[in-house]
Amino acid sequence: MSETDISHRFIINDSGVRGQWTLLDASYQTVLAKHDYPLEVQSVLGEMMAAAILLSSTLKFEGSMIIQARGEGVVSLLTVECTHDHKLRAIARWNGDTQDMDFRAMLGQATLAITITPLQGERYQGIVPLDGDTLSECLEHYFQQSEQLSTQIQLFHGNNRAGGLLVQVLPTHSGIKIDPQQQREEWERITTLARTLTAEELLNLDCATVLHRLFHEETVELFPAEAVIFECSCSRQRTADALIQIGRPELEEIIAEQGKIEVTCQYCNELYRFDSVDVAMLFTNSATDGDGESKTIN
Ligand SMILES: [Zn+2]
Repeated sequence: MSETDISHRFIINDSGVRGQWTLLDASYQTVLAKHDYPLEVQSVLGEMMAAAILLSSTLKFEGSMIIQARGEGVVSLLTVECTHDHKLRAIARWNGDTQDMDFRAMLGQATLAITITPLQGERYQGIVPLDGDTLSECLEHYFQQSEQLSTQIQLFHGNNRAGGLLVQVLPTHSGIKIDPQQQREEWERITTLARTLTAEELLNLDCATVLHRLFHEETVELFPAEAVIFECSCSRQRTADALIQIGRPELEEIIAEQGKIEVTCQYCNELYRFDSVDVAMLFTNSATDGDGESKTIN
């Protein structure tokens, strides 16, 4: 397996700490190639993609997860979607000059929502205010609030790559028996070592080398790599479903004015075209004429 576009889980034995590492290259570049993002937006998008992989591996679910930041600054939206098997897509919306702006400055007043939609069962969402200076700080708060688990997240980007390292106290139900005082000391020690990680190391070295540099006195159990790929979940059927929700009268109005309906997926730029026959078919195949409610397509 390649040394990039993968993620590894690891456990630091006897310390009650687990971790996740990821390094994205082609998957990140595919996202960047879809839109002409300013450099600063590219950076936060890369960090959010890396974060999504770290979180999706840590929060156990089967289905999809969306990390979304909505702001009132130059950047109004950052969204990363990720499935449990590490298929990623991402998008940012911005309006104006982002030059030399950091994460906080670009988003302004903002909230961060993490939504998990399991293949089976109820969707659930956690919302955290963006009160940290960086995305990693905000996500650390999220874990502290929602999971009550001490978590350290480091995110990096550069040279068209993005990656990250997460370490986290093992939940008590994991079967690891460790004295609470000892666990606090171990946590301090492990996070102090992890904090010495540099962007250059993370973005250029493989996982085993990074972990050896950080924790060479520990016994680290490294699990096999899991592949990460860019894959958009859009389809003609999903686009048709979204159009049905808009309602027949509105669609027919567009057809009358423009002769066709064109929907471009904002994540992957795939174009879906519907003519008057297609639109008629949508409603002969569907039991409902839609509720007239307008929805964002894709
Ligand atoms: Zn798409």
